Amino acid sequence: MVLYRKYRPQKFSEVVGQDHVTATLRNALKNGQVAHAYLFAGARGTGKTSVARILARAVNCTSLKNGEPCGRCSSCRAIARGTFLDLVEIDAASNRGIDDVRAMREQVHFQPSSGKYKVYVLDEVHMLTKEAFNALLKTLEEPPEHIIFILCTTEPHRLPLTVVSRCQRFNFKLADETSLAKYIVDISKKEEIEIHKTAASLIARQAGGSFRDGLSLLEQIREFSPKMISREKVIEVLGLSSEIESRNLLCLLADGNVKEALELVENLARQGRDLHNFAQMVILALRESLREALSSGKQKKSGLSVKEIIELIGLLQRAGAEIRSAAVPQLPLEVALVKFGQFVSALAENREASTPSLEVDEKSAGENGAEIITDPDVDLEAVWAEVMEKVKPYNHSVHALLKGGHLVGYQSGTAYLEFYYKFHKERVEEERNRLLVEKMFAEVIGRPVVIACRLKSGGRVPPKKDKDLDDGKALEFKDTLGDDDLVKIAQEILGGEVKEME
Ligand SMILES: [Zn+2]
Repeated sequence: MVLYRKYRPQKFSEVVGQDHVTATLRNALKNGQVAHAYLFAGARGTGKTSVARILARAVNCTSLKNGEPCGRCSSCRAIARGTFLDLVEIDAASNRGIDDVRAMREQVHFQPSSGKYKVYVLDEVHMLTKEAFNALLKTLEEPPEHIIFILCTTEPHRLPLTVVSRCQRFNFKLADETSLAKYIVDISKKEEIEIHKTAASLIARQAGGSFRDGLSLLEQIREFSPKMISREKVIEVLGLSSEIESRNLLCLLADGNVKEALELVENLARQGRDLHNFAQMVILALRESLREALSSGKQKKSGLSVKEIIELIGLLQRAGAEIRSAAVPQLPLEVALVKFGQFVSALAENREASTPSLEVDEKSAGENGAEIITDPDVDLEAVWAEVMEKVKPYNHSVHALLKGGHLVGYQSGTAYLEFYYKFHKERVEEERNRLLVEKMFAEVIGRPVVIACRLKSGGRVPPKKDKDLDDGKALEFKDTLGDDDLVKIAQEILGGEVKEME
């Protein structure tokens, strides 16, 4: 049995890292307050389905103790065996249509066959079609007494607000590295694997906050090294490049030695190393440098300035995303390094005149690409101006990004934005930024709004001849940022951990 299943928690108290969820649920259960619809939102591998099953047990348990299912009654045992008829788990990703929901609605009116409640767990519920959501909504509006819905999703923003508002919502958090590492050490003990603390930390870091990913990595490494797991073994098995190499790369770049940096990458590629992971390691090292630079106030501690670090993180993130689909795996990294070299020399020469301005050619906006229909009651110019005004005091960098785009259409809750440059578009689409922009649109328009971003000219290169313009624009954008903006971007990268600049 895979570790994640083997160690799936059976009680609320066994769930790691989601105390804010389990404590509330246990209290409600103790007081007999059971809701008819729950929304469990959070990243994959954070325990949504596990908690849903425990909740299904608890509401059906005949001897609930302190809000916990007993684990011994017939309902508890049937759920553990997976033979409990009143727990229905539906994968909404593959049953997403109106007919699937209708079939479920017909079932809903039957009494539970053995339990007190019939519990429907809808996994990946955001995948349902609009019609299916409407059908589901009708049930949520008048739920039969004996029914409980648990909607699980990694993308709660894709759910209609009408559905969300009918549910009691719980947000599942990603695990932090320390508690995930501890969890990995605990499971290793149970599995009689001797694991070094540094090895567990590295696995935790690679797992990115997901318990499930953490355990599957542990399993993967155990295949090669069943009794003892060292940090070196983790690096070896996962094909990770060691931190030394990423530090070397940064030293070379700080010295302006792009040529040797390229050789280093070439060497790694020849050894068949995982370059995607290498890029991740470099980004993590940069993150450390950024943190050092900001907390010490010394910009040069790592050899790179804050501006350079931020630029390089951006370049490597994009390169990292392209490596696995690239014809030559090392090419995206090589391009990133060359671009970084150019960025550094551009900074040094401070060639403001040679970089293009940020102003968008307003007349041509919206001419290309698929036609977008606009609600005639909406004055696009006025709405856009107001949204820009509202965003500005909140977040200067998002405001600057929006200047690279344009509102080209609005219809029934969707605002269509068009950008000249991928860089701007992708940054605006990042969840945190997108939510801010959508919130401001909602305030201006007076109803929930989602934004749909696209590139002008159907996503091709900007309609100008200079092939380096794209990056020129990005350079220009960074150059126009003040220190405050840099700190904000830095804080975003560090997850808001930096308290002060000096
Ligand atoms: Zn029980």
